[in-house]
Amino acid sequence: MGQQTSGLHAPSSSGMATAEPPKADLWHTVLQQLDDVAQRLGLNPGIHAILRQPERELTVAVPVLMDDGQIEVFTGYRVQHSSARGPCKGGLRYHLDVNLNEVRALAALMTWKCAVVGIPYGGAKGGVCCDPVRLSENELCRLTRRYTAMIMPIIGPKRDIPAPDVNTNPQVMAWIADTVSMLEFQTVIDIVTGKPVPLGGSLGRREATGRGVAIITAELLRRKGRALAETKVAVQGYGNVGSSAATILNEMGCKIVAVSDVTGGLYNPHGLNIAAINEHVARHPRGWLEGYNAPDAERITNDELLTIDAHVLIPAALEHQLRADNAARVQAEMIIEGANGPTTREADEILNERGVIIVPDILANAGGVVVSYFEWVQDLQCFFWDEDEVNRNLKRIMVRSFDEVWAFSEARKVPLRLGAYMLAVDRVAEALQARGIFP
Ligand code: NAD
Repeated sequence: MGQQTSGLHAPSSSGMATAEPPKADLWHTVLQQLDDVAQRLGLNPGIHAILRQPERELTVAVPVLMDDGQIEVFTGYRVQHSSARGPCKGGLRYHLDVNLNEVRALAALMTWKCAVVGIPYGGAKGGVCCDPVRLSENELCRLTRRYTAMIMPIIGPKRDIPAPDVNTNPQVMAWIADTVSMLEFQTVIDIVTGKPVPLGGSLGRREATGRGVAIITAELLRRKGRALAETKVAVQGYGNVGSSAATILNEMGCKIVAVSDVTGGLYNPHGLNIAAINEHVARHPRGWLEGYNAPDAERITNDELLTIDAHVLIPAALEHQLRADNAARVQAEMIIEGANGPTTREADEILNERGVIIVPDILANAGGVVVSYFEWVQDLQCFFWDEDEVNRNLKRIMVRSFDEVWAFSEARKVPLRLGAYMLAVDRVAEALQARGIFP
């Protein structure tokens, strides 16, 4: 399984002449977006060329002794897009679709996300091409420990700090912290965030992304003069982000009229019983909505959810859910992107033309990395905050960032997505200019 390549790959030094990846991939989209923003900002061509390539890319061949005694070799990556604004920060993904271009794209998005919320990090991402469902707990543990040992030369609390992403969780972060601690003969818990709380994790980290989505939704509604109690919200994806956002918005007074997951959706135009749904999901062996049979909840499909009668739509499942084929049918006036990349470029254009307000992923779902930043700060100081303090500081940063993106976009007369990207790229460029080119 996987390629047998390994070693540090220096990025090509040919600047803008780097071969373009195939059209459809996310890295291509990220580069197109950067080129567009660079032109609008009048970015220095040298700075533009720096940002078009990740600073450092490491590909590793990870041998794992499987439970049946066979050896399998998995391909893993760690890509550091930019460290201009501080140590690199980004999640680790275990998935069969993981490839170098995807990891590059997600690393660059982390650079923009950290810049737009003004936290002192650059962007990185990691991934291992594997099917975690097929791996036992012991195999996952051995895979994680070997991958960690192989990327250790480039990670560290002041270099690059991994965190959970798709199919990795606090347990995986604990194995990474323990592996580094064993190899360095000292406790190094500040090398990852999203750890279990007893190992230096932060209170409030689990709900942080959904809480950030809820805070941004409330701010947008306030600006539009719409009362929370009169707002109908539909949420696609009922995992970590979607369920937390739905629960917190419901507590704030919104009516959650539709929710969905991989097994389908539920709808009630007068508002679903979120507490009862959460109890069902907590009891379900896989945490799914399937089997929830309350008489006040009608079953709907995921396509129906995306185009349902609601004021706010929160896509919080996967990328590319809003596309050219369904964007014209979306009824919501506002879209808050909980997931990364849920809207294609074509859908974005259609929705913008129709006057739908979209709060982009790099701002809307930044609550997770903000609380990861708080976790790192707490670990470095060995001084831990209570949950109220975490949530208060999260709200302060999300509201400030929303206000800044709103003001910037208004001043430039551009949609919020473009405004957020322009602000982010400008901040990274400023840091690069201030550092100068070494040596
Ligand atoms: P998760 O695995 O906990 O939840 C994903 C949810 O989406 C599940 O309920 C799943 O059933 C549902 N889903 C999958 N396919 C679906 C489909 N076709 N239609 C409807 N629902 C579907 O993942 P998560 O951590 O909640 O992440 C969701 C998204 O948010 C991802 O794009 C992720 O990259 C992004 N994100 C997560 C965080 C975080 O802190 N967890 C931070 C930033 C961004």
